Amino acid sequence: MKKYSFYINGEWTGNDLDVIEVYNPATNELIATVPNGGSTEARLAVHAAYEAFKEWSSFSAYERSDLIWKWYHLINEHKEVLARTMTMEQGKPLKEALGEIAYANGFLSWYAEEAKRIYGETIPATQRNKRLFVHKQPVGVVAAITPWNFPAAMITRKVAPALAAGCTVVVKPAEQTPLTALKLAELAHEAGIPKGVINVVTGNPQEIGKVWLEDDRVRKLTFTGSTEVGKLLMRGSADTVKKVSLELGGHAPVIVMDDADLDKAVDGVIHSKYRNAGQTCICSNRIYVQESVYEPFISKLVEKVERLKVGNGLDDQVDIGPLIDDPAIQKVKNHIEDAISKGAKVETGGEILNQLFFQPTVISNVDDDMVCMSEETFGPLAPVTSFKTEEEAIERANDSLYGLAAYVFTENISKGIRISEALEYGIIGLNDGLPSTPQAPFGGFKQSGIGREGGHYGIDEYLEVKYISLGL
Ligand code: ADP
Repeated sequence: MKKYSFYINGEWTGNDLDVIEVYNPATNELIATVPNGGSTEARLAVHAAYEAFKEWSSFSAYERSDLIWKWYHLINEHKEVLARTMTMEQGKPLKEALGEIAYANGFLSWYAEEAKRIYGETIPATQRNKRLFVHKQPVGVVAAITPWNFPAAMITRKVAPALAAGCTVVVKPAEQTPLTALKLAELAHEAGIPKGVINVVTGNPQEIGKVWLEDDRVRKLTFTGSTEVGKLLMRGSADTVKKVSLELGGHAPVIVMDDADLDKAVDGVIHSKYRNAGQTCICSNRIYVQESVYEPFISKLVEKVERLKVGNGLDDQVDIGPLIDDPAIQKVKNHIEDAISKGAKVETGGEILNQLFFQPTVISNVDDDMVCMSEETFGPLAPVTSFKTEEEAIERANDSLYGLAAYVFTENISKGIRISEALEYGIIGLNDGLPSTPQAPFGGFKQSGIGREGGHYGIDEYLEVKYISLGL
Protein backbone atom coordinates (compact mmCIF):
# COMPACT_ATOMS: atom_id res chain seq x y z
CA MET A 1 0.00 0.00 0.00
CA LYS A 2 1.53 3.27 -1.13
CA LYS A 3 1.01 6.69 0.42
CA TYR A 4 0.95 9.32 -2.33
CA SER A 5 1.48 13.06 -2.00
CA PHE A 6 0.03 15.66 -4.30
CA TYR A 7 1.85 18.10 -6.54
CA ILE A 8 1.81 21.86 -6.01
CA ASN A 9 4.39 24.32 -7.30
CA GLY A 10 6.76 21.56 -8.34
CA GLU A 11 6.74 19.95 -4.89
CA TRP A 12 5.22 16.80 -3.47
CA THR A 13 3.21 17.85 -0.41
CA GLY A 14 0.05 17.14 1.55
CA ASN A 15 1.50 14.43 3.77
CA ASP A 16 0.33 16.17 6.92
CA LEU A 17 -3.34 15.93 5.86
CA ASP A 18 -5.76 13.11 6.48
CA VAL A 19 -6.16 10.75 3.53
CA ILE A 20 -8.54 9.42 0.90
CA GLU A 21 -8.30 5.66 0.47
CA VAL A 22 -8.08 4.24 -3.03
CA TYR A 23 -9.46 0.72 -3.60
CA ASN A 24 -9.05 -1.75 -6.42
CA PRO A 25 -12.66 -2.33 -7.61
CA ALA A 26 -11.75 -5.84 -8.81
CA THR A 27 -10.52 -7.07 -5.43
CA ASN A 28 -11.80 -4.48 -2.96
CA GLU A 29 -8.21 -4.20 -1.78
CA LEU A 30 -6.88 -0.92 -0.37
CA ILE A 31 -4.09 -0.03 -2.81
CA ALA A 32 -3.04 3.50 -1.85
CA THR A 33 -3.91 6.69 -0.07
CA VAL A 34 -3.79 10.25 -1.32
CA PRO A 35 -4.01 13.47 0.71
CA ASN A 36 -7.48 14.78 1.39
CA GLY A 37 -6.84 18.36 0.33
CA GLY A 38 -9.29 21.20 0.76
CA SER A 39 -9.56 24.95 0.32
CA THR A 40 -6.06 25.80 1.59
CA GLU A 41 -4.36 23.49 -0.90
CA ALA A 42 -6.73 24.55 -3.68
CA ARG A 43 -5.69 28.17 -3.08
CA LEU A 44 -1.98 27.30 -2.95
CA ALA A 45 -2.31 25.54 -6.30
CA VAL A 46 -3.97 28.55 -7.93
CA HIS A 47 -1.29 30.81 -6.50
CA ALA A 48 1.45 28.59 -7.95
CA ALA A 49 -0.26 28.39 -11.34
CA TYR A 50 -0.82 32.15 -11.41
CA GLU A 51 2.84 32.88 -10.65
CA ALA A 52 4.05 30.29 -13.17
CA PHE A 53 1.81 31.69 -15.90
CA LYS A 54 3.99 34.79 -16.29
CA GLU A 55 7.02 32.81 -17.42
CA TRP A 56 5.28 29.88 -19.14
CA SER A 57 3.17 32.15 -21.34
CA SER A 58 6.32 33.99 -22.41
CA PHE A 59 8.05 30.79 -23.61
CA SER A 60 8.12 30.42 -27.36
CA ALA A 61 5.73 27.86 -28.82
CA TYR A 62 8.79 25.79 -29.74
CA GLU A 63 10.06 25.75 -26.14
CA ARG A 64 6.64 24.66 -24.87
CA SER A 65 6.42 22.06 -27.61
CA ASP A 66 9.83 20.58 -26.70
CA LEU A 67 8.77 20.11 -23.08
CA ILE A 68 5.43 18.57 -24.02
CA TRP A 69 7.29 16.18 -26.34
CA LYS A 70 9.65 15.22 -23.48
CA TRP A 71 6.64 14.46 -21.31
CA TYR A 72 5.18 12.39 -24.19
CA HIS A 73 8.34 10.27 -24.47
CA LEU A 74 8.44 9.63 -20.72
CA ILE A 75 4.79 8.54 -20.72
CA ASN A 76 5.58 6.21 -23.59
CA GLU A 77 8.53 4.72 -21.68
CA HIS A 78 6.36 4.19 -18.60
CA LYS A 79 3.20 3.04 -20.35
CA GLU A 80 3.18 -0.42 -18.74
CA VAL A 81 3.31 0.87 -15.19
CA LEU A 82 0.79 3.63 -15.95
CA ALA A 83 -1.60 1.09 -17.48
CA ARG A 84 -1.28 -1.29 -14.52
CA THR A 85 -1.92 1.54 -12.10
CA MET A 86 -4.97 2.50 -14.09
CA THR A 87 -6.37 -1.03 -14.18
CA MET A 88 -5.84 -1.38 -10.45
CA GLU A 89 -7.61 1.83 -9.49
CA GLN A 90 -10.27 1.91 -12.20
CA GLY A 91 -10.87 -1.72 -13.18
CA LYS A 92 -10.66 -1.61 -16.99
CA PRO A 93 -8.86 -4.52 -18.69
CA LEU A 94 -5.12 -3.99 -19.07
CA LYS A 95 -5.33 -3.99 -22.88
CA GLU A 96 -7.86 -1.14 -22.67
CA ALA A 97 -5.67 0.68 -20.14
CA LEU A 98 -2.72 0.44 -22.53
CA GLY A 99 -5.00 1.70 -25.28
CA GLU A 100 -6.00 4.62 -23.08
CA ILE A 101 -2.37 5.55 -22.38
CA ALA A 102 -1.69 5.63 -26.13
CA TYR A 103 -4.84 7.70 -26.69
CA ALA A 104 -3.96 10.03 -23.78
CA ASN A 105 -0.44 10.47 -25.11
CA GLY A 106 -1.89 11.23 -28.55
CA PHE A 107 -3.14 14.52 -27.10
CA LEU A 108 0.40 15.41 -26.03
CA SER A 109 1.90 14.74 -29.47
CA TRP A 110 -0.96 16.47 -31.27
CA TYR A 111 -0.86 19.63 -29.09
CA ALA A 112 2.94 19.73 -28.94
CA GLU A 113 2.63 20.39 -32.68
CA GLU A 114 -0.49 22.56 -32.52
CA ALA A 115 1.41 24.93 -30.22
CA LYS A 116 3.35 25.95 -33.34
CA ARG A 117 0.20 26.73 -35.31
CA ILE A 118 -1.50 29.30 -33.10
CA TYR A 119 -1.86 31.70 -36.00
CA GLY A 120 -3.13 35.27 -35.86
CA GLU A 121 -4.62 37.30 -38.68
CA THR A 122 -4.42 40.66 -40.40
CA ILE A 123 -7.63 42.32 -41.53
CA PRO A 124 -7.87 44.93 -44.29
CA ALA A 125 -8.72 48.30 -42.73
CA THR A 126 -11.25 50.82 -44.02
CA GLN A 127 -8.80 53.72 -43.76
CA ARG A 128 -5.42 53.96 -45.52
CA ASN A 129 -3.62 54.85 -42.30
CA LYS A 130 -4.73 51.88 -40.20
CA ARG A 131 -3.55 48.29 -39.80
CA LEU A 132 -5.69 45.71 -38.03
CA PHE A 133 -4.13 42.67 -36.36
CA VAL A 134 -5.54 39.69 -34.48
CA HIS A 135 -3.38 37.91 -31.90
CA LYS A 136 -4.13 34.77 -29.94
CA GLN A 137 -3.11 34.71 -26.28
CA PRO A 138 -3.47 32.11 -23.51
CA VAL A 139 -6.52 32.64 -21.27
CA GLY A 140 -4.52 32.27 -18.03
CA VAL A 141 -4.90 29.81 -15.17
CA VAL A 142 -7.10 26.83 -16.08
CA ALA A 143 -8.93 24.61 -13.56
CA ALA A 144 -9.49 21.07 -14.80
CA ILE A 145 -11.83 18.69 -12.98
CA THR A 146 -11.85 15.15 -14.33
CA PRO A 147 -13.83 11.90 -13.90
CA TRP A 148 -12.76 8.36 -13.01
CA ASN A 149 -13.65 6.52 -16.21
CA PHE A 150 -10.61 7.71 -18.22
CA PRO A 151 -8.02 8.50 -15.54
CA ALA A 152 -5.29 9.52 -18.03
CA ALA A 153 -7.01 10.69 -21.21
CA MET A 154 -9.40 13.12 -19.53
CA ILE A 155 -6.38 14.86 -18.02
CA THR A 156 -4.17 15.07 -21.11
CA ARG A 157 -7.12 16.07 -23.31
CA LYS A 158 -7.33 19.22 -21.18
CA VAL A 159 -3.78 19.78 -19.97
CA ALA A 160 -2.02 19.28 -23.34
CA PRO A 161 -3.91 22.01 -25.24
CA ALA A 162 -3.81 24.30 -22.18
CA LEU A 163 -0.03 24.00 -21.90
CA ALA A 164 0.45 24.29 -25.65
CA ALA A 165 -1.55 27.53 -25.62
CA GLY A 166 0.62 28.92 -22.80
CA CYS A 167 -1.82 28.40 -19.92
CA THR A 168 -0.98 26.88 -16.55
CA VAL A 169 -3.30 24.40 -14.85
CA VAL A 170 -4.69 23.24 -11.54
CA VAL A 171 -6.11 19.72 -11.81
CA LYS A 172 -8.43 17.79 -9.53
CA PRO A 173 -8.74 14.15 -10.56
CA ALA A 174 -11.66 12.01 -9.40
CA GLU A 175 -11.30 10.65 -5.87
CA GLN A 176 -11.66 7.06 -7.15
CA THR A 177 -8.72 7.33 -9.60
CA PRO A 178 -6.10 9.87 -8.45
CA LEU A 179 -3.05 7.61 -8.86
CA THR A 180 -2.71 7.70 -12.66
CA ALA A 181 -3.03 11.50 -12.48
CA LEU A 182 -0.27 11.77 -9.89
CA LYS A 183 1.98 9.48 -11.91
CA LEU A 184 1.42 11.66 -14.96
CA ALA A 185 2.43 14.69 -12.87
CA GLU A 186 5.60 12.87 -11.75
CA LEU A 187 6.55 12.37 -15.40
CA ALA A 188 5.74 16.01 -16.25
CA HIS A 189 8.11 17.02 -13.46
CA GLU A 190 10.79 14.68 -14.78
CA ALA A 191 10.30 16.12 -18.27
CA GLY A 192 11.29 19.52 -16.90
CA ILE A 193 7.94 21.27 -17.16
CA PRO A 194 8.56 24.23 -14.83
CA LYS A 195 7.15 24.35 -11.31
CA GLY A 196 3.61 25.65 -11.00
CA VAL A 197 2.73 24.98 -14.65
CA ILE A 198 0.89 21.78 -13.69
CA ASN A 199 -0.53 21.34 -10.18
CA VAL A 200 -2.53 18.29 -9.12
CA VAL A 201 -4.60 18.43 -5.93
CA THR A 202 -6.59 15.52 -4.56
CA GLY A 203 -9.29 15.89 -1.96
CA ASN A 204 -12.73 17.23 -1.24
CA PRO A 205 -14.42 18.06 -4.58
CA GLN A 206 -16.86 20.61 -3.17
CA GLU A 207 -14.22 22.55 -1.21
CA ILE A 208 -11.65 22.54 -3.98
CA GLY A 209 -14.28 23.34 -6.61
CA LYS A 210 -15.63 26.27 -4.58
CA VAL A 211 -12.21 27.90 -4.19
CA TRP A 212 -11.43 27.55 -7.88
CA LEU A 213 -14.83 28.86 -8.94
CA GLU A 214 -14.59 31.91 -6.69
CA ASP A 215 -10.99 32.79 -7.55
CA ASP A 216 -10.83 35.47 -10.21
CA ARG A 217 -7.35 34.36 -11.23
CA VAL A 218 -8.82 31.12 -12.59
CA ARG A 219 -9.95 32.27 -16.03
CA LYS A 220 -11.17 28.98 -17.41
CA LEU A 221 -12.90 25.91 -16.08
CA THR A 222 -12.77 22.68 -18.02
CA PHE A 223 -14.80 19.78 -16.71
CA THR A 224 -15.69 16.23 -17.72
CA GLY A 225 -18.28 14.44 -15.62
CA SER A 226 -21.97 14.29 -14.90
CA THR A 227 -24.44 16.78 -16.34
CA GLU A 228 -25.63 17.51 -12.81
CA VAL A 229 -22.19 18.60 -11.53
CA GLY A 230 -21.47 20.34 -14.86
CA LYS A 231 -24.52 22.56 -14.40
CA LEU A 232 -23.45 23.36 -10.87
CA LEU A 233 -19.96 24.36 -12.03
CA MET A 234 -21.36 26.41 -14.89
CA ARG A 235 -23.57 28.33 -12.45
CA GLY A 236 -20.60 28.73 -10.12
CA SER A 237 -18.48 30.13 -12.96
CA ALA A 238 -20.96 32.93 -13.64
CA ASP A 239 -19.86 35.24 -10.80
CA THR A 240 -16.32 35.50 -12.12
CA VAL A 241 -17.39 35.06 -15.78
CA LYS A 242 -15.00 32.21 -16.45
CA LYS A 243 -14.82 30.55 -19.80
CA VAL A 244 -16.20 27.04 -19.50
CA SER A 245 -15.77 23.81 -21.43
CA LEU A 246 -18.04 20.99 -20.36
CA GLU A 247 -18.04 17.37 -21.47
CA LEU A 248 -21.12 15.94 -19.78
CA GLY A 249 -23.37 12.92 -19.94
CA GLY A 250 -24.55 11.18 -23.07
CA HIS A 251 -27.20 8.72 -24.13
CA ALA A 252 -25.96 7.41 -27.43
CA PRO A 253 -28.42 5.86 -29.86
CA VAL A 254 -27.34 3.25 -32.40
CA ILE A 255 -29.35 2.97 -35.61
CA VAL A 256 -28.97 -0.27 -37.57
CA MET A 257 -30.59 0.01 -41.01
CA ASP A 258 -31.82 -3.04 -42.93
CA ASP A 259 -28.98 -2.64 -45.44
CA ALA A 260 -26.28 -2.65 -42.74
CA ASP A 261 -23.48 -5.17 -42.70
CA LEU A 262 -24.75 -6.92 -39.57
CA ASP A 263 -21.35 -8.26 -38.53
CA LYS A 264 -19.93 -4.76 -38.72
CA ALA A 265 -22.90 -3.41 -36.75
CA VAL A 266 -22.53 -6.08 -34.06
CA ASP A 267 -18.79 -5.40 -33.75
CA GLY A 268 -19.51 -1.68 -33.55
CA VAL A 269 -22.00 -2.24 -30.74
CA ILE A 270 -19.61 -4.56 -28.89
CA HIS A 271 -16.93 -1.84 -29.04
CA SER A 272 -19.14 1.08 -28.19
CA LYS A 273 -21.27 -0.67 -25.56
CA TYR A 274 -18.95 -2.92 -23.58
CA ARG A 275 -15.70 -0.93 -23.60
CA ASN A 276 -14.79 -0.01 -20.02
CA ALA A 277 -17.74 -2.20 -18.90
CA GLY A 278 -20.11 0.33 -20.44
CA GLN A 279 -18.71 3.21 -18.41
CA THR A 280 -18.00 5.82 -21.09
CA CYS A 281 -20.09 8.84 -22.01
CA ILE A 282 -20.19 7.75 -25.67
CA CYS A 283 -21.23 4.14 -24.93
CA SER A 284 -24.29 3.12 -26.89
CA ASN A 285 -27.31 3.21 -24.60
CA ARG A 286 -30.19 2.31 -26.95
CA ILE A 287 -30.08 0.27 -30.09
CA TYR A 288 -32.69 0.77 -32.80
CA VAL A 289 -32.73 -2.00 -35.40
CA GLN A 290 -34.86 -1.95 -38.56
CA GLU A 291 -37.65 -4.54 -38.36
CA SER A 292 -36.48 -6.97 -41.03
CA VAL A 293 -33.02 -7.43 -39.46
CA TYR A 294 -34.08 -7.20 -35.80
CA GLU A 295 -34.04 -10.96 -35.07
CA PRO A 296 -30.77 -11.80 -36.89
CA PHE A 297 -29.08 -8.77 -35.31
CA ILE A 298 -30.06 -9.89 -31.81
CA SER A 299 -28.87 -13.46 -32.33
CA LYS A 300 -25.51 -12.31 -33.72
CA LEU A 301 -25.11 -9.81 -30.89
CA VAL A 302 -25.98 -12.33 -28.18
CA GLU A 303 -23.55 -14.86 -29.65
CA LYS A 304 -20.68 -12.35 -29.44
CA VAL A 305 -21.66 -10.97 -26.04
CA GLU A 306 -21.64 -14.48 -24.58
CA ARG A 307 -18.00 -14.80 -25.60
CA LEU A 308 -16.93 -11.76 -23.55
CA LYS A 309 -14.93 -12.73 -20.49
CA VAL A 310 -15.59 -10.89 -17.24
CA GLY A 311 -12.93 -10.69 -14.52
CA ASN A 312 -10.01 -8.86 -12.99
CA GLY A 313 -8.59 -6.56 -15.66
CA LEU A 314 -5.04 -7.65 -14.85
CA ASP A 315 -5.86 -11.08 -16.30
CA ASP A 316 -4.88 -11.12 -20.00
CA GLN A 317 -8.02 -12.85 -21.22
CA VAL A 318 -10.47 -10.42 -19.64
CA ASP A 319 -12.73 -8.21 -21.80
CA ILE A 320 -14.90 -6.69 -19.08
CA GLY A 321 -13.69 -5.58 -15.66
CA PRO A 322 -15.64 -4.55 -12.56
CA LEU A 323 -17.87 -1.51 -12.33
CA ILE A 324 -16.50 1.37 -10.31
CA ASP A 325 -18.61 1.03 -7.13
CA ASP A 326 -21.83 -0.24 -5.53
CA PRO A 327 -24.12 2.56 -6.76
CA ALA A 328 -22.92 1.80 -10.31
CA ILE A 329 -23.89 -1.87 -9.96
CA GLN A 330 -27.19 -0.94 -8.39
CA LYS A 331 -28.03 1.40 -11.25
CA VAL A 332 -27.55 -1.31 -13.88
CA LYS A 333 -29.67 -3.69 -11.83
CA ASN A 334 -32.42 -1.09 -11.40
CA HIS A 335 -32.48 -0.34 -15.13
CA ILE A 336 -32.85 -4.05 -15.94
CA GLU A 337 -35.56 -4.59 -13.32
CA ASP A 338 -37.49 -1.58 -14.56
CA ALA A 339 -37.25 -2.82 -18.17
CA ILE A 340 -38.37 -6.37 -17.23
CA SER A 341 -41.30 -5.03 -15.24
CA LYS A 342 -42.42 -3.16 -18.38
CA GLY A 343 -42.14 -6.19 -20.68
CA ALA A 344 -38.49 -6.45 -21.78
CA LYS A 345 -36.93 -9.85 -22.39
CA VAL A 346 -33.44 -10.73 -21.16
CA GLU A 347 -31.58 -12.29 -24.11
CA THR A 348 -28.37 -12.85 -22.17
CA GLY A 349 -26.86 -11.79 -18.83
CA GLY A 350 -28.94 -9.71 -16.45
CA GLU A 351 -27.28 -10.62 -13.18
CA ILE A 352 -24.56 -9.45 -10.82
CA LEU A 353 -21.72 -12.01 -11.01
CA ASN A 354 -20.18 -11.05 -7.72
CA GLN A 355 -19.38 -7.81 -5.91
CA LEU A 356 -18.75 -5.22 -8.64
CA PHE A 357 -18.84 -7.56 -11.64
CA PHE A 358 -21.94 -7.51 -13.82
CA GLN A 359 -22.76 -9.90 -16.66
CA PRO A 360 -22.73 -8.27 -20.10
CA THR A 361 -26.41 -8.03 -20.85
CA VAL A 362 -28.68 -7.73 -23.87
CA ILE A 363 -32.40 -7.06 -23.50
CA SER A 364 -34.97 -6.99 -26.29
CA ASN A 365 -38.60 -6.00 -26.63
CA VAL A 366 -37.70 -2.61 -25.27
CA ASP A 367 -40.00 0.47 -25.19
CA ASP A 368 -39.01 4.11 -25.14
CA ASP A 369 -40.66 4.61 -21.74
CA MET A 370 -38.24 2.26 -19.96
CA VAL A 371 -35.75 4.14 -17.78
CA CYS A 372 -32.73 2.75 -19.66
CA MET A 373 -33.98 4.45 -22.83
CA SER A 374 -33.56 7.95 -21.41
CA GLU A 375 -31.17 7.68 -18.41
CA GLU A 376 -27.49 6.88 -18.84
CA THR A 377 -26.94 3.29 -17.54
CA PHE A 378 -23.13 3.52 -17.39
CA GLY A 379 -22.88 -0.26 -17.33
CA PRO A 380 -22.86 -3.30 -19.64
CA LEU A 381 -26.54 -3.24 -20.61
CA ALA A 382 -27.59 -3.16 -24.29
CA PRO A 383 -31.33 -2.50 -24.81
CA VAL A 384 -32.49 -3.37 -28.32
CA THR A 385 -35.71 -2.23 -29.97
CA SER A 386 -37.03 -2.23 -33.54
CA PHE A 387 -38.25 0.50 -35.91
CA LYS A 388 -40.00 0.66 -39.25
CA THR A 389 -38.80 3.75 -41.12
CA GLU A 390 -35.72 5.96 -41.30
CA GLU A 391 -37.79 8.96 -40.13
CA GLU A 392 -38.99 7.05 -37.08
CA ALA A 393 -35.44 6.03 -36.16
CA ILE A 394 -34.16 9.61 -36.44
CA GLU A 395 -37.04 11.02 -34.41
CA ARG A 396 -36.62 8.48 -31.61
CA ALA A 397 -32.83 8.87 -31.62
CA ASN A 398 -33.11 12.66 -31.32
CA ASP A 399 -35.69 12.47 -28.54
CA SER A 400 -33.13 13.03 -25.78
CA LEU A 401 -31.80 15.81 -23.58
CA TYR A 402 -28.33 14.63 -24.53
CA GLY A 403 -26.45 15.03 -27.79
CA LEU A 404 -22.96 13.59 -27.45
CA ALA A 405 -22.46 10.55 -29.71
CA ALA A 406 -24.69 8.54 -32.04
CA TYR A 407 -23.96 5.57 -34.28
CA VAL A 408 -25.39 4.61 -37.64
CA PHE A 409 -24.89 1.37 -39.55
CA THR A 410 -25.80 1.19 -43.23
CA GLU A 411 -23.94 0.17 -46.38
CA ASN A 412 -25.73 2.91 -48.33
CA ILE A 413 -23.41 5.91 -48.08
CA SER A 414 -26.00 8.53 -49.10
CA LYS A 415 -28.41 7.23 -46.51
CA GLY A 416 -25.61 7.19 -43.94
CA ILE A 417 -24.71 10.82 -44.57
CA ARG A 418 -28.39 11.86 -44.64
CA ILE A 419 -29.04 10.24 -41.25
CA SER A 420 -25.76 11.58 -39.79
CA GLU A 421 -26.77 15.11 -40.78
CA ALA A 422 -30.22 14.72 -39.21
CA LEU A 423 -28.93 13.47 -35.87
CA GLU A 424 -28.58 16.14 -33.17
CA TYR A 425 -25.28 14.79 -31.88
CA GLY A 426 -21.73 16.15 -31.78
CA ILE A 427 -20.06 12.87 -32.75
CA ILE A 428 -21.35 10.34 -35.29
CA GLY A 429 -19.86 6.89 -35.69
CA LEU A 430 -20.98 5.95 -39.21
CA ASN A 431 -20.20 2.23 -39.44
CA ASP A 432 -17.71 2.93 -36.64
CA GLY A 433 -18.04 2.00 -32.97
CA LEU A 434 -14.84 3.77 -31.90
CA PRO A 435 -14.85 7.36 -33.19
CA SER A 436 -12.64 9.03 -30.51
CA THR A 437 -9.20 10.14 -31.66
CA PRO A 438 -6.97 13.05 -30.55
CA GLN A 439 -7.03 14.91 -33.86
CA ALA A 440 -10.84 15.07 -34.13
CA PRO A 441 -13.28 17.30 -32.19
CA PHE A 442 -15.03 15.61 -29.27
CA GLY A 443 -18.04 17.25 -27.65
CA GLY A 444 -21.77 17.38 -27.46
CA PHE A 445 -24.94 19.18 -28.52
CA LYS A 446 -27.72 20.01 -26.03
CA GLN A 447 -27.10 19.08 -22.37
CA SER A 448 -24.05 17.00 -23.27
CA GLY A 449 -21.83 20.03 -23.01
CA ILE A 450 -20.16 23.15 -24.29
CA GLY A 451 -17.02 23.37 -26.39
CA ARG A 452 -14.86 20.79 -28.10
CA GLU A 453 -11.78 18.88 -27.05
CA GLY A 454 -9.29 17.42 -29.50
CA GLY A 455 -8.13 18.51 -32.92
CA HIS A 456 -7.38 22.11 -33.84
CA TYR A 457 -10.69 23.03 -32.19
CA GLY A 458 -9.42 21.92 -28.78
CA ILE A 459 -6.75 24.59 -28.46
CA ASP A 460 -9.15 27.48 -29.18
CA GLU A 461 -10.79 26.78 -25.83
CA TYR A 462 -7.60 27.98 -24.13
CA LEU A 463 -7.00 31.08 -26.25
CA GLU A 464 -8.26 34.64 -26.07
CA VAL A 465 -8.56 36.63 -29.27
CA LYS A 466 -6.88 40.02 -29.09
CA TYR A 467 -7.52 42.65 -31.75
CA ILE A 468 -4.92 45.39 -32.18
CA SER A 469 -5.81 48.45 -34.24
CA LEU A 470 -2.71 50.36 -35.34
CA GLY A 471 -2.97 53.96 -36.48
CA LEU A 472 0.02 54.78 -38.69
P1 ADP B 1 -19.35 10.73 -11.88
O1 ADP B 1 -20.81 10.56 -11.70
O2 ADP B 1 -18.81 10.22 -13.15
O3 ADP B 1 -18.52 10.38 -10.68
P2 ADP B 1 -19.15 13.50 -11.21
O4 ADP B 1 -19.68 14.60 -12.05
O5 ADP B 1 -19.76 13.27 -9.88
O6 ADP B 1 -19.20 12.25 -12.15
O7 ADP B 1 -17.58 13.67 -10.99
C1 ADP B 1 -16.69 14.16 -11.95
C2 ADP B 1 -15.65 15.00 -11.25
O8 ADP B 1 -16.28 16.11 -10.63
C3 ADP B 1 -14.89 14.28 -10.12
O9 ADP B 1 -13.54 14.71 -10.12
C4 ADP B 1 -15.59 14.77 -8.87
O10 ADP B 1 -14.79 14.74 -7.73
C5 ADP B 1 -15.89 16.20 -9.27
N1 ADP B 1 -16.97 16.84 -8.52
C6 ADP B 1 -18.11 16.28 -8.05
N2 ADP B 1 -18.87 17.21 -7.40
C7 ADP B 1 -18.19 18.38 -7.48
C8 ADP B 1 -18.41 19.71 -7.00
N3 ADP B 1 -19.51 20.02 -6.33
N4 ADP B 1 -17.49 20.65 -7.25
C9 ADP B 1 -16.37 20.35 -7.94
N5 ADP B 1 -16.09 19.13 -8.41
C10 ADP B 1 -16.97 18.14 -8.19
